[in-house]
Amino acid sequence: KTKLGPSVITEYLQRVVEDLREVEGGAVKDSIPALANADPNPIGIAVATVDGAIYQAGDSKQEFCIQSISKAFTYAQALTDRGMDGVFEKIDVEPSGDAFNEISLQPETGRPANPMINAGAIAATSLVKNTAHGTRRERILRLYSRLAGRQLRINKTIHAQENRSGDRNRALGWLLSSRDIIEGDPTNALEDYFAQCSVMLNCVDLARMGATLAAGGVNPLSGERVLSTQVVSDVLSVMYTCGMYDDAGRWALKVGLPAKSGVAGGIIAVLPGQLAVAVFSPPLDQHGNSVRGVAACERLSQDLDLHFARTE
Ligand code: GLN
Repeated sequence: KTKLGPSVITEYLQRVVEDLREVEGGAVKDSIPALANADPNPIGIAVATVDGAIYQAGDSKQEFCIQSISKAFTYAQALTDRGMDGVFEKIDVEPSGDAFNEISLQPETGRPANPMINAGAIAATSLVKNTAHGTRRERILRLYSRLAGRQLRINKTIHAQENRSGDRNRALGWLLSSRDIIEGDPTNALEDYFAQCSVMLNCVDLARMGATLAAGGVNPLSGERVLSTQVVSDVLSVMYTCGMYDDAGRWALKVGLPAKSGVAGGIIAVLPGQLAVAVFSPPLDQHGNSVRGVAACERLSQDLDLHFARTE
């Protein structure tokens, strides 16, 4: 909604990064060595528009692992492969108010509450098809790469660490299997879920992925249709209600944008039809969301008037 020249926007983002250095608190995730040993100091921010413009400041080119931000995109692939009805049978779309790794399966159906917490995300990964055009893992990586507009890669060290420390997720996988949400042995789906969490990218990539969603599924740079408008609208709706875990309600009030966070410290937020914001800063709050990332999105939403419910 705001019309500003490019250098004005870049200077503004640089100022935001400087101000974020004063924001303290939070702790890096200690679930795997790669995250526990991460430098807590980098702060990156990028804004990508549906016109293909990109604005960035701070450590916007520093790579980190996508972690749970992947859940939104894999859900998009599951919807593409199975249709909403096919996916809805296995995964509900209700905000759970639970932590991201909660053992939350609905008592009657065994369905996970939504695809943005681990239980639902592992189920979503299992619904992506192995086809003649590629294995499930290859197709997931290809989707992320087409959304970003460059070839992304899985970090093998992080993948191995996720695998080694993944007992709780494995337990979720077997629970899902016991209720036929995942058919048969969940081991392959879990392996692919750990792999998708280990995809490396930077804020620019993430902002471009978000801009592709903002543009209804067409990558603004390549012009390629990557997802259907229906799938994008379904994914953004679920991101809005469930993307920030048990902070989703407060986030909706304060920021007012569909979003998704990951435990490496990344956050993506999307203003449909306009732009996407990506932020990276490793220290997390008690919900598993980046402390500075949340602060940055609150600030941008206010300053640039991004909240969907604001009427003036
Ligand atoms: N790999 C992490 C897990 O499955 C991802 C969690 C997250 O980013 N919130 O536990």
